[in-house]
Amino acid sequence: MSLIVQKFGGSSVRDAQRLRNVAGIIAETYLEGNDVIVVLSAQGDTTDDLIAKAQEINPRASKREMDMLLSTGEQISVALCAMALESMGLPCVSLTAWQVGIQSTAVHSDARIKKIDSERIRAELDQHRIVIVTGFQGVDRGGDVTTLGRGGSDTSAVALAAAFRADLCQIYTDVDGVYTTDPRIVPNARKLEEITYDEMLELASQGAQVLHNRSVELAKKFRVNLEVLSSLERKPGTKVKEVTNVEKTNIAGVAKDTSIARIALIGLEHNPGVAFQVFDLLGKHNINVDVIIQSIGREESKDITFTLHRKDLEEAEEVLNAHKAALRFDHIETDAGIGKVSIVGAGLVSNCGVAARMFEALYEAGINIQMINTSEIRVSVLLDEEDVNRAVKAVHDKFFDEA
Ligand code: ADP
Ligand code: ASP
Ligand code: MG
Repeated sequence: MSLIVQKFGGSSVRDAQRLRNVAGIIAETYLEGNDVIVVLSAQGDTTDDLIAKAQEINPRASKREMDMLLSTGEQISVALCAMALESMGLPCVSLTAWQVGIQSTAVHSDARIKKIDSERIRAELDQHRIVIVTGFQGVDRGGDVTTLGRGGSDTSAVALAAAFRADLCQIYTDVDGVYTTDPRIVPNARKLEEITYDEMLELASQGAQVLHNRSVELAKKFRVNLEVLSSLERKPGTKVKEVTNVEKTNIAGVAKDTSIARIALIGLEHNPGVAFQVFDLLGKHNINVDVIIQSIGREESKDITFTLHRKDLEEAEEVLNAHKAALRFDHIETDAGIGKVSIVGAGLVSNCGVAARMFEALYEAGINIQMINTSEIRVSVLLDEEDVNRAVKAVHDKFFDEA
């Protein structure tokens, strides 16, 4: 007998018919004699719809109340799924994060799971019940509901798999695995049989929404046996694991991110401590930055340009302007229309020609690069948001169709 965690995303539980389909997959796994913990997302576009409702009432609602609202979507899914399983005569129980004891940090809308209490779920499994848990949510030390960031149900699933030492964590979604790029943008993208944790982590962090990046981080840390597969077609998906057997002759994939903004602080003083002050201030407001470029301007002044998530742009601008006197910059320039395209591959580190090939593809497509950023296994370019899909196609073609 094995313990299997199965997570189903929003499109997989969209309506009654899809929920019955999901209940069928769960039932099959349970009736084979396995213990099953199920994690569900909100149905279809529920989370977006809830955000729209909040916007109608108060566009600047507090993050605490947003979490209170958004966490309801997952509660609907788990109750409905339990009802579907009940109707099949299967023993089950639905639980919220509060009932399970999924303890998280208090950073509303972007909380991290700290610890999962095991008693309740263990007791339910001992009673041979299928346990259905709300994804995406946690509870902070003060007892408040938190959410884990968009797409965070994947992380709930992997965290539960790690906490209960599950034999397998299956992420069921609307594609049948991880592809070399988003198959909705590039129809000839190829499905990967397997991918390493490191490559998947980079792809997810650079915008491949098929897995929440923190879920991959946790899977790597706790060696969770992870698989991405379709809830609609019964076929093998993509295995995410430590090392893959295939010899690395190409990149693993291309990712895009269109939720980026850029801020430039113009005319800062060229003194020690300036960068520290700027990024310490942003860090204290839980604003993460990504690519940073510092350049020396005229008359010993300097400019610092950085990218951040678009949702944080307004707050960052406010915070920086509020400290204008202390930071002593001349003015701020912002651009909310930035996109990022990245290539990822374990073989990149030993092959500098790969970056050149990416730039060649962009040159041939007539696309201008604004900033470049690299890691050991990744090259990213920042460009106009409008160019992103064209850039993904051009780069993907270069690596996968001209090979
Ligand atoms: P779920 O609701 O099941 O969590 P998501 O919408 O979060 O599903 O993630 C699945 C989507 O991720 C796919 O429909 C696909 O458009 C997108 N995607 C982006 N990059 C990739 C990739 N490299 N491989 C597969 N899917 C990808
Ligand atoms: N429902 C949440 C979202 O739409 C979490 C998830 O689906 O993973 O982001
Ligand atoms: Mg998702």
